[in-house]
Amino acid sequence: MSTPSPLEQRLQAELECLKEKGNYRSLPGTEREGEFVVADGRKMHNLSSNDYLGLAADTALRAEFLRRQTPEGFLPSASSSRLLTGTFAAHRRIEQQLAGLYGKEAALVASCGYHLNAGILPAIGHGRMLVLADKLMHASFIDGMRLSAARCIRYRHNDYAQLEQLLARHAAEFESIVIATESIFSMDGDEAHLPRLTALKRKYPGVLLYLDEAHAFGLRGNRGLGCAEEQGCLPEIDLLVGTFGKALASAGAFVVCSRTIRDYLVNKMRTFVFTTALPPWQMEWTSFLLDRLPALSGRRERLGRMGHFLRRAAHARGYLCPSTSHIVPLIAGTSSEAAKLALRLQERGFYVLPVRPPSVPEGTARVRISLTASLPDEALQKLAEAL
Ligand SMILES: *Cc1c(COP(=O)(O)O)cnc(C)c1O
Repeated sequence: MSTPSPLEQRLQAELECLKEKGNYRSLPGTEREGEFVVADGRKMHNLSSNDYLGLAADTALRAEFLRRQTPEGFLPSASSSRLLTGTFAAHRRIEQQLAGLYGKEAALVASCGYHLNAGILPAIGHGRMLVLADKLMHASFIDGMRLSAARCIRYRHNDYAQLEQLLARHAAEFESIVIATESIFSMDGDEAHLPRLTALKRKYPGVLLYLDEAHAFGLRGNRGLGCAEEQGCLPEIDLLVGTFGKALASAGAFVVCSRTIRDYLVNKMRTFVFTTALPPWQMEWTSFLLDRLPALSGRRERLGRMGHFLRRAAHARGYLCPSTSHIVPLIAGTSSEAAKLALRLQERGFYVLPVRPPSVPEGTARVRISLTASLPDEALQKLAEAL
């Protein structure tokens, strides 16, 4: 064996350091069986996916979709970026469908939520823009801030008093101010209070609201459009990002916004311009599911009841659990405590995973339970008992 290069020596040392802290990650060798996960020969309920409505586990739905497919219509590649020959009828249809559902001028579909959050701020940002972002924004948005020419400040999680102080102090220095938050937060499962943000938007000129609904799209509101629909704030949201890869059981993401912003993103957003468009068949599947979304309120209500039940059980057993949603974290403390708790629940038949730094702050390692409407009542009962 040749001696490792200086780079490999450095990387190896860092990996060892991660292992010592219990923060080393590796790709699991699990298999999926419908709504179950099989690991080490054990079949467990999958409580670590984002298939919140159980649509990805619904074979009947896939069968119905596949019956309509023909070899001519089944296009597994767009073979081009959107700006060249990669825009198909299905892309246009979904964008019209989304703009209509949200009552906005325009929508733009991109490869994934990561691309949108990492691409929008670098595209629209400039030296006279201030971005005020919740401290717990997703990594993709953080990357967008890093690449943006805008001045970016993060406010304490859901601390709207601090947010208003920042506005009062800085509003006059900037031409535009983007306030950015997730609606349901991915790691804590708690929520933004959108009317507080729309009130700030009315009070300070030049404010735009940027809302990441990755964990709420499909789940909240009468038609499943997200928390902005549920909280009656849709008209005041300027940039609303949703993903198709979570509750909607597909892949890709969208932003709904004004026509001007959409046209600008088409011209300037590098994560949109310089990548191959989503495959047309994937868009067909997304459109098939979008058509059904408003009618899935039974599943949404079920998930709401399940979250309520599990959060109550977690509190009753003394867990620190900030959630108000179907994402139920059990905060354990150190990485090794979280790993132990996850293993214990896995032994009881529930595939849950520890979430460790840097995904969450040091000292708040946790087990993150992602509920899905496809989990049977008896299993939920058993899970509550296993806590
Ligand atoms: C998953 C997620 C994204 C990224 O979406 P993808 O389509 O999976 O790339 C963005 N924001 C939040 C809050 C997310 O949880």
